[in-house]
Amino acid sequence: MEHVQLSLAEVSALGERCLRRNGCDADNARAVSETMTLAERDACHSHGLFRLPGYVSSLRSGKVNGKAEPRLEELAPSALRVDGDRGYASLALQRGLPAFIECASQQGIATLALVNIFHFAALWVELEAIAVKNLAALAFVGATAMVAPAGAQKAFFGTNPLGFAWPRPGREPMVFDQATAAMARGEIQIAARDKRPVPLGTGLDAQGLPTTDAAAIINGGVQLPFGGYKGSSLSLMVELLSAGLLGEQFGAEASHALPKDGGPNRGGQLIIAFNPEKFGNAGAWVEHCEQFFGELLSLDGVRLPGDRRLAQRELSVRDGVEIPEPLYREILALEKD
Ligand code: NDP
Repeated sequence: MEHVQLSLAEVSALGERCLRRNGCDADNARAVSETMTLAERDACHSHGLFRLPGYVSSLRSGKVNGKAEPRLEELAPSALRVDGDRGYASLALQRGLPAFIECASQQGIATLALVNIFHFAALWVELEAIAVKNLAALAFVGATAMVAPAGAQKAFFGTNPLGFAWPRPGREPMVFDQATAAMARGEIQIAARDKRPVPLGTGLDAQGLPTTDAAAIINGGVQLPFGGYKGSSLSLMVELLSAGLLGEQFGAEASHALPKDGGPNRGGQLIIAFNPEKFGNAGAWVEHCEQFFGELLSLDGVRLPGDRRLAQRELSVRDGVEIPEPLYREILALEKD
């Protein structure tokens, strides 16, 4: 496939322009475009410009409010909530994170609930923003039902990602971020687009049979959780934390929502942040944990989660990124329609 080489500034400008032409105001367009640009920078292509047609279609269908004004409120001294005003999660996160970080730093632990949002991105973006402020954090996002719980052949859970970040003062934090499905939906879509097989265990076809055909999973089939019943239980936990706890839609409820426009559906996000200075190991945790990381990395074959992204980051900042030409053309057309 042919590619177009773009600098990160060009990626960002392209995303912002396209979103503005399709109904976003300046703040929303900038926030979403920044999220996509960070994903392109770290070679997380399934959450980069690849997502832009989906963002645009849910603006055009009227499902998402491109002029959302997220509102932050304090539910309890350590419990904050942002009502996203039916907009994308990026601006709601930008509006909520400064107060949340301050609250967790002071109190030792804090929660941030995001409701009435459409999350269509990777979680490491917000986790990293929290961890660079010397906080540890957990994040959970509910998504539309696409995954069959262990034992079933019918979609009931979302791909329900969860992530964890650990601060490493003076270095990039350690962040992992993964779907509870065997593979994120976007990765399967890209494999289907590129006519590549996916590993057995990723999903079932329309007949309920295991398949390596990405298109068969997307078109009428169903995804599977990772690790059988263990991934299924984590997905169940994400449903309860992101929907049951916050008063948002469960994945199965979200999947009945109309219109079906190819964009995300409404769901909740829960973030919990901890200040390691307030858990009885103040002043000593950094050295102790760095020693632990050092020993872990001394084992043959081990790398830390996030290291692939960080290595790509350096290259993208220097050289820019490659965007598949068909996607680039599609985006230019979306700007003009
Ligand atoms: P991957 O399986 O690609 O990666 C999951 C994590 O494992 C990453 O942190 C990755 O780090 C790490 N990792 C991979 N290989 C190794 C290794 N050999 N050793 C140590 N760590 C490793 O992610 P998924 O496909 O599960 O998810 C992709 C993205 O999709 C996530 O960012 C997720 O948030 C997003 N998503 C968003 C949804 C939404 O509704 N908003 C829904 C579902 C998913 P590294 O990146 O460095 O390889």
